[in-house]
Amino acid sequence: MTDIIQLLPDNIANQIAAGEVIQRPASAVKELLENAVDAGATEIKLIITDAGKSLVQVIDNGKGMSETDARMAFERHATSKIKNIEDLFHIKTMGFRGEALASIAAVAQVELKTRKPENEIGTYIEIENSNVVKQEACACSIGTSISMKNLFFNVPARRNFLKSNAAETRHILDEFIRVAMAFPQIFFSLTSNGQQVFYLEAGSLKQRIVQIMGNSYNAKMVSVKEDTDYMNILGFIGKPETAKKTRGDQYFFVNNRFIKSAYLNHAVNTAFENMIAKDSFPSYVLFIDIDPSQIDINVHPTKQEIKFEDEKIIYAFVQAAVKHALAQFSVAPSLDFTLNADIQNLDAISKPFTEEKKETVTASSNLYKTFTQKNQAHFIEKNNTSELKHWKSFFEKSSTNQETENQKEEKLISSDFELQPSNFFQLHNTYIIATYDNGFKLVHQQLAHERILYEHYSNTAHNKQMPTQKTLFPATLELSSADAALMTDLLNDLNFIGYHIEPFGNNTFVIQGTPADVLQGNEKHALELLIEQFKHFSSDIKFSKREKLIRCMSRQQAIKEGQTLSQQEMQVLVTELFNCQTPNISPSGNPTYIDFKEDYLLRLFGK
Ligand code: ADP
Ligand code: MG
Repeated sequence: MTDIIQLLPDNIANQIAAGEVIQRPASAVKELLENAVDAGATEIKLIITDAGKSLVQVIDNGKGMSETDARMAFERHATSKIKNIEDLFHIKTMGFRGEALASIAAVAQVELKTRKPENEIGTYIEIENSNVVKQEACACSIGTSISMKNLFFNVPARRNFLKSNAAETRHILDEFIRVAMAFPQIFFSLTSNGQQVFYLEAGSLKQRIVQIMGNSYNAKMVSVKEDTDYMNILGFIGKPETAKKTRGDQYFFVNNRFIKSAYLNHAVNTAFENMIAKDSFPSYVLFIDIDPSQIDINVHPTKQEIKFEDEKIIYAFVQAAVKHALAQFSVAPSLDFTLNADIQNLDAISKPFTEEKKETVTASSNLYKTFTQKNQAHFIEKNNTSELKHWKSFFEKSSTNQETENQKEEKLISSDFELQPSNFFQLHNTYIIATYDNGFKLVHQQLAHERILYEHYSNTAHNKQMPTQKTLFPATLELSSADAALMTDLLNDLNFIGYHIEPFGNNTFVIQGTPADVLQGNEKHALELLIEQFKHFSSDIKFSKREKLIRCMSRQQAIKEGQTLSQQEMQVLVTELFNCQTPNISPSGNPTYIDFKEDYLLRLFGK
């Protein structure tokens, strides 16, 4: 026999091909989330165990699949999203290569449950090694649930290649955040090892950014929005003060797809030039919308890199849009808007489109002027509310202004409602209505309690150690190495807020005592949750470890929405709230109550 070439069996060919698409649990997370988005879901839940190594499950309420489609979906190159090569240039969906499910089915055990809204009964399919091992009708909710179990169970070499749970979880969080950020109108949740890590209600982009990057961003974002015929840009940039030493919160999306681009990143960085330290990185979440025919997303199997038809225009556009935003909000001085000379000479920039187009575009965009008014690219309307030359002094001024405003407001409130509240009513087990002689206050019970606990904890813990109660049956806590390292780092501060924890070797800790006013019984869970929340906070550099812990603990211990309160409890809560130093806002910056004064109520009714 001299001929030695053979065709590989399907399942081996699939396993090899899968290597490109599914490298780690996070790759499956990305693909499954994107499929749910493509299916038009409004609610997407991600569940992982063991950093996705044992389970990655995505549940959506999208359009589901028919019985035949459910089977077909796992074939290589099976897709409902493109039909011919032309379609490749008009892609509006996240997926189109028809490889993800086939790849997942080649390297993991898969269970699928799916039902279309118009069907009464759904389909259940179990797949292993690319083979369907079970298929039956099933009762299930509308939409699709796909579980990927024991990734690489049949490719041990790949399995050994996976990193620690902490590292793989980090990758999953990154992918989850990228998809969740791109679709704020969709509800997303993430549960890891039974603990909820994210619960992101549908809302605006701004709300989503705050949900993900933290409340401290609320007042520190500048909106970016420019529309032209060629492309649009929309999103937010962090004010210079939010710049970080690590390249953390930087997100670029092109047609809602997260992309990595050092080139575009550079465009934003240079727009921030001289406003932030050389070695720090601005935060941004920017969405570019462009005709799909102007880009090629098919350059990489994971579609995180794309090619632009004309990269230079995009660069100039992004840079100008960011500078424009900074200038409009008086963050940057509005000088120095010269576009790079090469870019000005580009046809698309120096020549207007047709006259007609030009009219519509110029009406809506200053940026267009910066593109077309040759040699006057610095033309940006000056924001006449600010004569300040330098953003720093602007900040100082505006922040002190704000303080006095707040103080004024607080004074008003306290003088207007000096009398004691007389009655309390609970609404939806969430709000407390406290009536006064001249109106009422609507108090949010959870936010109010967070404020009370926060001040209580900070007053005690910043000065002296908080009281501890000994646990009767010391619980042991076994953590991943990354979490154990974090725990070790936090021991001192945990001790200060009343936890008494002893390291026991091998990533194990014994809980000897808990803060005096923390309910005992599930201290183990409470601590795990605390660590999880702490990680959530850990990008907030400006808070000390202790401050972060106190914030986590206040949130964790606060009474929640949905809890019924007695008259006495409501009274205590409201009284304690108004004994606080800053009763009107929660530690994370939300209002704790809203005033309804009598004259305001009368005005509402035209009296
Ligand atoms: P692609 O997304 O590139 O089309 P996939 O392998 O990810 O390829 O999915 C194959 C097909 O399976 C999709 O085109 C779609 O028709 C169907 N599909 C996958 N996931 C879902 C889902 N969550 N809901 C409805 N249909 C889905
Ligand atoms: Mg897909």
